[in-house]
Amino acid sequence: MTIRLRRALVQCKVTSVKQDSSLIREIKFYGPLMKSNLKQVWVTGPIIVGAGPSGLATAACLKEKGIPSLILEKENCIASSWKLRTYDRLKLHLPKQFCELPLMPFPPAFPTYPTKQQFISYLEAYAEHFSVKPLFGMKVRCAEYDPSIGFWRVEANNLEFICRWLIVATGENDEAILPEITGMSEFQGQVLHTSFYKNADDFKRKKVLVVGCGNSGMEVCLDLCNNGVQASMVVRDKLHILPREILGISTFGLSMWLIKWFPMKLADEFLLLCSWLILGDTKKYGLTRPNIGPLKLKITTGKTPVLDVGTLSKIKNGQIKVVPGIDCFTHKGVEFVDGKQEDYDAVILATGYRSNVASWLKEGFPHGWRGKNQLYATGFTRRGLLGSSMDANRTAEDIARQWNSKTKQHLPLKL
Ligand SMILES: Cc1cc2nc3c(=O)[nH]c(=O)nc-3n(C[C@H](O)[C@H](O)[C@H](O)COP(=O)(O)OP(=O)(O)OC[C@H]3O[C@@H](n4cnc5c(N)ncnc54)[C@H](O)[C@@H]3O)c2cc1C
Repeated sequence: MTIRLRRALVQCKVTSVKQDSSLIREIKFYGPLMKSNLKQVWVTGPIIVGAGPSGLATAACLKEKGIPSLILEKENCIASSWKLRTYDRLKLHLPKQFCELPLMPFPPAFPTYPTKQQFISYLEAYAEHFSVKPLFGMKVRCAEYDPSIGFWRVEANNLEFICRWLIVATGENDEAILPEITGMSEFQGQVLHTSFYKNADDFKRKKVLVVGCGNSGMEVCLDLCNNGVQASMVVRDKLHILPREILGISTFGLSMWLIKWFPMKLADEFLLLCSWLILGDTKKYGLTRPNIGPLKLKITTGKTPVLDVGTLSKIKNGQIKVVPGIDCFTHKGVEFVDGKQEDYDAVILATGYRSNVASWLKEGFPHGWRGKNQLYATGFTRRGLLGSSMDANRTAEDIARQWNSKTKQHLPLKL
């Protein structure tokens, strides 16, 4: 316990220290430390916000070092993004060796690109193996560092958790981005975000416009097309589309290797040459490449290249139509920026996601994995699950250096 907190406790008198487990205790501050009427809970170890892959990985790495942690998760399950907000045909976009969480490999029988269900079952087994038991239904609405005690105050439901270490693992993709397009409310058809798209069943015999051409937009279009739906895709910006594999090697793995040994410019040129040989000139089909190479673009802007899983051939043979940006909605469809109008039964917004951290974290968010005042962030460096694993390891190591197994930051029970 810090000297500051000890002093504050003496001044303000903590009463009713009720022991629930070795990790969580109910406490009650009086005086200036009692900042709200919420029930106060002391957490011995770090609090992790979010029970997705990043949160689970961090809890597991901490556990391996003998450090208990508490996960607060707003939904009622682990891996809620994967369980609740993804489409049925989803497979990992990257080969499995780049998506494993620390300390537990995928089962050997998993294919190179595990399905969504396989990935979810792996995460369930992972949580079970490390006995990770999040508190569900706990949406963190505020987290603030209190310099007067040198601890974090984290509010969720009717509780205020007090802890020394706060790990943000709420993901880069928590909130659906819904663009405001003129006339959208007047459109008589269905409008939905990809987070609500499951499969083509609801769109049979319909004419569907998919807005957005990232990995999700491309894949949803392919799913619709494979199921006989007439699908068009809005392509507004320039984009890099790369084959998922080059000469049997995953493009992602090859890129990592290239960037290790060659200057980025050369690596980009090589990838673009291979893409041109395998996919042809994508500009002919309305998919113009940016002037910056795919790796440089990813590193400078975070924009991920699309890995083609079959959509391009459907675009080439005209089964999927590429259309320009939308100017406005009409009653029955949309008007594009080139002035042409088209009717649609449904519009699917593949317009991405954003993080929700700014809405609840009342402190500066770290640019990397570690911030000020024992604040950590796992899974926010736009490097997918590989990045989450690296952040989780580094965070656990850093906290382990501060964790003193003898004192264990316990609140003294006899006050
Ligand atoms: C369709 C799709 C496919 C992808 N495929 C790959 C891939 O193949 N390989 C790869 O490396 N990456 C992939 N990614 C990117 C990324 O790795 C995944 O999105 C991954 O789920 C990120 O894990 P996470 O734990 O950081 O975030 P999430 O999985 O989003 O988990 C965050 C958790 O935090 C919870 N939460 C959010 N806010 C709060 C709050 N205020 N209080 C409490 N709980 C909260 C959420 O409910 C959620 O359970 C993909 C992403 C998408 C969208």
